[in-house]
Amino acid sequence: MFFKMTTKLYCEKNCIKNHANDLKQFGKRALIVTGRNSSKLNGSLKDVTTALASIGTDYIIFDKVEENPSVKNIMDASAFGMEFSPDYVIGIGGGSPLDASKAIALMLANPDFDEALLFNTGMGHKNALPVVCVPTTCGTGSEVTPYSILTLHDSKTKSSIPHHIFPEISYADPIYLSFASDTILKNTAVDALGHFIESSINARSSIFADVFCEKGLAMWQTVKEILLKSEKTYEDYETLLNVSSLAGMAISHTGTSLPHGMSYSLTYEHGVAHGKAVGTFLAAYIDNSDEANKNKVLSLLGYNNAAELNDDLKALIGTVRVSKEEYDRYLKYMQTNERKLKSCPFTATADTVSAIYAGSLLQIIH
Ligand code: NAP
Ligand code: FE
Repeated sequence: MFFKMTTKLYCEKNCIKNHANDLKQFGKRALIVTGRNSSKLNGSLKDVTTALASIGTDYIIFDKVEENPSVKNIMDASAFGMEFSPDYVIGIGGGSPLDASKAIALMLANPDFDEALLFNTGMGHKNALPVVCVPTTCGTGSEVTPYSILTLHDSKTKSSIPHHIFPEISYADPIYLSFASDTILKNTAVDALGHFIESSINARSSIFADVFCEKGLAMWQTVKEILLKSEKTYEDYETLLNVSSLAGMAISHTGTSLPHGMSYSLTYEHGVAHGKAVGTFLAAYIDNSDEANKNKVLSLLGYNNAAELNDDLKALIGTVRVSKEEYDRYLKYMQTNERKLKSCPFTATADTVSAIYAGSLLQIIH
């Protein structure tokens, strides 16, 4: 059992402007990495560049981070940043640019290494450059986790890199969420719900992670009400963002479990948004766990049974349609995924995986 949370997290309106001086400690040159559009529209990119100008820091911007960034995307961004010799990296956006910023910071600290470094530790490499994060969605918690999840085209899936890179500072300003569509808010909030559920029902669960999980699970009904409102207040966005960071703090200590493992095929092969792909399996995961965990998590969430949660999730994120061939292939892949099976605190067998698939929000099209 361990507890580690090394990120300094600011959660308030205008936090980038208010705490720009904190960035001085990292040096005079910053590489900003972000997605193609959203950070220009929601003001987060402007807030960062204004803050950097105010403290006399030079910067360049890589604004081509893909959703679910691939290894090639990371290497392209690293090559772009290398010539500028930045002292640190600032990721702005949803989980994709934040995760990318960590992997890019690792490559920039190690100019003599190729992409093999991303998935290998113990290569005699240097630690990543310092990372600063600015989250603009409310689900991944990447602003407080050491994880970076990349798409691997070779194996047609996604995987967390084995390097653990906590951001040094994260600036969480809820205002950026007011620019996100209801679909983005719902999908990403369901990702955060998944983090609480999978951290709670996890072989590595601990009393420390449970502190975050119990608070977060008990807030789910409030979060759900916010997601269903047509007009949201600043306080609503603040709640969504805080809950997401809380969930990130939980998985930083436990990792995720089967629903995340199961989500990756849906995202890779069907382009299903990460949170929606995770949410597809959440109720069925709870329903097929051991009685003690099942009862505890359902009661904290405010449900009598897993079917009630599945109904709410269906209303929020909908279903995912797959062919029988795809269903069978994904099922078989998970049944033999020893690492994810071992992340369950109960004995998870091939039959458990079948039962989770059967109770999921997947729809087989004939
Ligand atoms: P995302 O892939 O970062 O972004 C999804 C979409 O939302 C993009 O089109 C993006 O536009 C847009 N967007 C972002 N912020 C917005 C805003 N405020 N207003 C309007 N549009 C906005 O989505 P995500 O769900 O946050 O991140 C998913 C990734 O995080 C996956 O790769 C997943 O595996 C990873 N993840 C990481 C962790 C971790 O611990 N590190 C945990 C869970 C998931 P632009 O592209 O134009 O910016
Ligand atoms: Fe996630």
